Amino acid sequence: MSGFDLPLRKDLIGQTPYGAPEDTVPVRLNVNENPYPPSEKVIEAISQAVAAAARGINRYPDRDAVDLRAALAAYLSMESGIKVNIDCIWAANGSNEIMAQLFGAFGGPGTRALTFDPTYSMYPEYARDSFTEVVSVPRRRDFTIDLAAAIEAVAEHKPTLVILTSPNNPTGTSITLAEIEEISQAAQTIGALVVVDEAYAEFRGDRGATALTLLDSYPNIVVSRTMSKAFGYAGGRLGYCATSSGDIVQALKLVRLPYHLSAISQAAAMAALDFASESLSRVAEITSARNQMARELSSMGLVVAQSDANFLFFGEFADRHAIWNALVEQGILIRETGPVGWLRVSIGTASENELFVNCMKALVSGQEELHDQNGTD
Ligand SMILES: *Cc1c(COP(=O)(O)O)cnc(C)c1O
Repeated sequence: MSGFDLPLRKDLIGQTPYGAPEDTVPVRLNVNENPYPPSEKVIEAISQAVAAAARGINRYPDRDAVDLRAALAAYLSMESGIKVNIDCIWAANGSNEIMAQLFGAFGGPGTRALTFDPTYSMYPEYARDSFTEVVSVPRRRDFTIDLAAAIEAVAEHKPTLVILTSPNNPTGTSITLAEIEEISQAAQTIGALVVVDEAYAEFRGDRGATALTLLDSYPNIVVSRTMSKAFGYAGGRLGYCATSSGDIVQALKLVRLPYHLSAISQAAAMAALDFASESLSRVAEITSARNQMARELSSMGLVVAQSDANFLFFGEFADRHAIWNALVEQGILIRETGPVGWLRVSIGTASENELFVNCMKALVSGQEELHDQNGTD
């Protein structure tokens, strides 16, 4: 063992792998998972589909996942009323792999990706792994996008990829379709793709506000989606994208690993998609719980960012780590991420939400007392 230095890539030396803590406390509200496990009916359907796929497991899977892509097209049509051709849909192991493939095909040495901070912490990793440079434009104080700054950055940095996360993580903020259109126009003039990461789209307030509606008009838009959040399928690892043209999908096929989606993955995801309406009714429950929790946090005098996702971003705390820590002591894990002073909480089950809100009430009033005492000094 001794005396051997791994020939690790220079840019990876000293880096730490992505990882939020797992499984440490009873109430886990830290990674935006859907808190509801699948129903027995769904479990049964997945089991049967997996058993059927296992009978042919000696063969390589359909490398183009055609049946699954057809099922995803049907789902998008049901969820958003938008018809996307199967040739324009692509699937992978989570939308993380979709994004990695987009960076692989359209990034690379000498290219840039434009993001809007604060945003999803994985983008810099896809960029690093594809040797793409990241340029980030700061969001406004309310976490919306500064449209003029965005357009200017597109012209100045000439990215090949513009990443619009809507709803955004960790803030929950949506980007309006009008803004996405303006940015896409600017991107089109310099030949850039616009990737709209809609991981949380199903939780949006305005049903019409999905960039899927723009695919027909903008040949450079890619909409990325996932089954991780709305379907409660994070452990199944299934993400996908809808594109304006089959050429984009053909480009992704150049960089995907051969047979990247196993026969088991394809079969299980198709079985889960059969229960889309069941998942969407859960989404409606989570969305109304989110709205209620937002009201409760606001009534404690906290600032809550407008959210179209299954989580809330709230602050501002002089010492957010103290709040995070106090919650952990009560068995509740939330996420300490994004700008200093802010915290993110995923929406859980009714009882988890109640527990969290009650703890926050006690913590916030405790802080006020502290504040009052200090004030009288
Ligand atoms: C959770 C999340 C994803 C989903 O990743 P999967 O690989 O599909 O689980 C993608 N984008 C953002 C912004 C997310 O927060």
